Amino acid sequence: MAAPPRLGCAPLALAPRADSALRALRASSRGQAASLTSSGPIGDHVGTVPGAERSQAKSADEPRLGAASRDAPASAYVHLPFCKRRCFYCDFPVRAVGDDAGTPAVQDAMSKYVDLVCAEIDANVRLGSRPLQTVFFGGGTPSLTAPGLLERILASLRRKLGIAHGAEISMEADPGTFDAVKLRAYLDLGVSRFSVGVQAFQEELLRGGGRSHSLADVRRAIEDMHAVAPPSWSLDLISGLPFSTPAAWEESLRMAVEAQPHHVSVYDLQVEEGTPFGHWYSPGQSPLPSDATSSAMYVMASETLRSSGYEHYEVSNYAKPGHQCRHNLTYWTRRQCYAFGLGAASYLMGRRFRRPAKMAAYRKWVHSLQGEAVPMGGQPKESLRDQMEEELMLRLRLREGLDLMQFENEFGAAAREAVVGVLAHFVDRGLVEVDAPCHKSLLSGGVRQAGERVRLTDPSGWLVSNDIISDLFVALPD
Ligand code: SF4
Repeated sequence: MAAPPRLGCAPLALAPRADSALRALRASSRGQAASLTSSGPIGDHVGTVPGAERSQAKSADEPRLGAASRDAPASAYVHLPFCKRRCFYCDFPVRAVGDDAGTPAVQDAMSKYVDLVCAEIDANVRLGSRPLQTVFFGGGTPSLTAPGLLERILASLRRKLGIAHGAEISMEADPGTFDAVKLRAYLDLGVSRFSVGVQAFQEELLRGGGRSHSLADVRRAIEDMHAVAPPSWSLDLISGLPFSTPAAWEESLRMAVEAQPHHVSVYDLQVEEGTPFGHWYSPGQSPLPSDATSSAMYVMASETLRSSGYEHYEVSNYAKPGHQCRHNLTYWTRRQCYAFGLGAASYLMGRRFRRPAKMAAYRKWVHSLQGEAVPMGGQPKESLRDQMEEELMLRLRLREGLDLMQFENEFGAAAREAVVGVLAHFVDRGLVEVDAPCHKSLLSGGVRQAGERVRLTDPSGWLVSNDIISDLFVALPD
């Protein structure tokens, strides 16, 4: 049985991991290799220390942007890199500060970092007039950041980009780094959604992953969430930790449901090169679960959470009605997004640009910014082919699926024909389903019709999503 989608281990990872998975698929499909069963090891991909480009610069060879990409950006990601310690599987841009984040030295380092982020925001050009509809503080462990520092970043964002009334403002929060008083202070600043990195409900699995929190911290974190009752909160789990068993996973899922979050994220562990896990373990080999066990865990999560009232709206994400993460949906629907901070990746004017991931290089880069510009690091604009591949990979991560008519309008009839030709084979095998307004769908030999959508089935189609997407990439016209 194929391994489940391995797309990251924390919400921050969503965009970068999707990028990386996409690169792996491209490498495979362009090399005409056999289809993949998982996204494989993913390395960091920091852009060169960039120059900056004036937003008004227009080029005659500007590629056609996706319909969504043409909308003015209305989302911002802010990276807050401080963690108590580095978890054994983590390769994010992180600074470990030890167990006491309250010391003057740590507070001073955080304050100086916030100065850099605010300077970066100030040097950024606002594209269009839409105020931000979503802001996401990812990390790192943003809940280590004092509310007063978060307030400074929000003030900079408001001044520079505007924040809409009712905007979703999310922050990641790890057990053991907040209490009810701190949560209320964040809420008072406008934070409306917390993403709590529980990861597991077994003390030995938390310790084995190098997490800084204990099971008692998890229990307190859940109690605090209930005491404060934010508009929305997510409980995040990692499947496939070393020494994890189906029984332990079943227990984690049950306890997650009992905690009654509005949203649950479930990421399969990715073993990254250069991390302690990368030195100690090999994917699919004990003490990591086999691919078959990982797949069974993915199915277990899907069945347990859906039967508990959560919609499986994205390959790794589940939500009660009205609680989908609006910010992450901007990534999955290929909309533009500002990004600020160490190693953060923006998508603006058709270019993806990742900031330096080392603090000294990031500081130097921020100090080099002059005047207002859209930082792009000299990255080329995405080609139409790149956009087409991203559209397929990202849309097929979503329960909503791919709108074939929209895809044709954006990428042409030949691209649509290629997609239909590949997906039709998977319909019979129960891996792809078609949502057609009229009874007869094009995939089943009917007529082309507006609103016809294709999606991967849950869980069978999503379990082999990399295989299907790899086949699509091979079939796409150049
Ligand atoms: S809490 Fe752990 S996994 Fe999350 S960013 Fe910090 S070190 Fe990485």
